[in-house]
Amino acid sequence: MKEAELDLIYRSTRNREETATASQAILRGLAVEGGLYVPSYIPKLACSLAELSAMSYQQVAYEVMKLFLCDFTEEELKYCINHAYDQKFDTENIAELVRKDDAYFLELFHGSTVAFKDMALSILPYLMTTSAKKNQIQEEIVILTATSGDTGKAALAGFADVEGTKIIVFYPKHGVSPIQEKQMVTQRGDNTFVIGIEGNFDDAQTGVKKMFSDGELARTLAKNGYRFSSANSINIGRLVPQVVYYVYAYAQLLARKEIQENDLINVVVPTGNFGNILAAYYASLMGLPVAKLICASNENKVLFDFFKSGCYDRNREFILTSSPSMDILISSNLERLIYRIAGDDDEKNLQLMQELSKTGTYRIDEEMRSNLDIFYGNYADEKETAEAIKSVYEHVGYVMDTHTAVGKSVYEKYREETGDETPTVIASTASPFKFTRSVMNAIDPAYDAQSDFSLIDTLSEISHVAIPAAIEDIRTAPVLHDRVCKTEQMCDVVMEILGIQH
Ligand SMILES: *Cc1c(COP(=O)(O)O)cnc(C)c1O
Repeated sequence: MKEAELDLIYRSTRNREETATASQAILRGLAVEGGLYVPSYIPKLACSLAELSAMSYQQVAYEVMKLFLCDFTEEELKYCINHAYDQKFDTENIAELVRKDDAYFLELFHGSTVAFKDMALSILPYLMTTSAKKNQIQEEIVILTATSGDTGKAALAGFADVEGTKIIVFYPKHGVSPIQEKQMVTQRGDNTFVIGIEGNFDDAQTGVKKMFSDGELARTLAKNGYRFSSANSINIGRLVPQVVYYVYAYAQLLARKEIQENDLINVVVPTGNFGNILAAYYASLMGLPVAKLICASNENKVLFDFFKSGCYDRNREFILTSSPSMDILISSNLERLIYRIAGDDDEKNLQLMQELSKTGTYRIDEEMRSNLDIFYGNYADEKETAEAIKSVYEHVGYVMDTHTAVGKSVYEKYREETGDETPTVIASTASPFKFTRSVMNAIDPAYDAQSDFSLIDTLSEISHVAIPAAIEDIRTAPVLHDRVCKTEQMCDVVMEILGIQH
């Protein structure tokens, strides 16, 4: 409580004494020893919900982000917001809230790569270059990213040709959809590099994390005029912009008189790395009236098991599903929740994270568990996910992507279990055009005979939704990246790209 009177700063989840300003935390990505930066306290919304309901997306973004990014001036932050949330989005509202069936779908896929990661990755390059200026950074920023599909393309699109940056993206060669892969390997921009690895997403993420925490590597880089930074969802420059759309969604419900001021809502989030739902949790801690945060997993249901038992256990088979962006066994951002429910206890968190890296598992105590009441976890298997797509399409003509469908299916389970009729917002994390084959197969397996591109036309016809420009583009774009490497070679590849001898 005392701290709330002081300026908000950032602390490492593994060492409270390691602090940073917002701009420093954005530049560093990870804290030393693998800790994650967390705000020293969660600020309360400074304007009323009624005031927010009269604001544009950009205005809400400013009202929310200024509370977290305290060392940015008003001019700097507005510059970042206005350059990020512009005509790159195919709707003026930036995020669309549509009522379909029994829920409100918060469509977060109107940006340049038709997935929700655009919401944060369109602003991160501006936050980062602004942060570099504020901190008199001379070195060129090298963005190093591991992706399960969507982050990679959204980061590439955000950073392409941004002066003073290079971006290197690693993705699991056999773990992303054909359209996801095509989107990445056709990326233009002389500062962009895309590499497939022979391994899964966790291998890619572990390899990237290893490079980030290698002190000697950092010195070698610095000597050559480079420094690493992260565009992964562990960067607070990703997390903070994601808080915005939950506040905006509530404000929109209020503006349309779907709810009264201070009415509670539920939020459903199809979850992988736990970044998106953590942002919703932060929004609730800021004072947004949220009753339940419904964490939806696919068959990689580590989080469902965690919420049920208090035991996190990554020792299990990794399953490739039709919602690949959620095929994750180590949800990195969960560490920020663990730190929080431990009462901002860095030592307790460190101990649990060490157990996780040593044994692949940890258990939280009863006191920590008692702080998880706002969360409800469940999962949808492949069959249930497909059924949700088909059923919503048949009932209301709306086509969900596979990730959103996991959310919808879990929401149905929640309602059946609880009978809760609270108005509910489902975070819709990707356009169905990004996962066309799985989506069309769910509606009718006969579609499987069509080619990928003909399926896109058919989807447009049956859903009465125009093909997004981002999808149209890759039909004709040439492949510009074809490098593949083994997990152990990731560091060598980075050195080669940067032209560093070692
Ligand atoms: C990244 C992603 C998710 C998972 O979000 P997290 O923040 O990692 O939990 C869900 N759906 C889609 C389409 C994504 O790209």
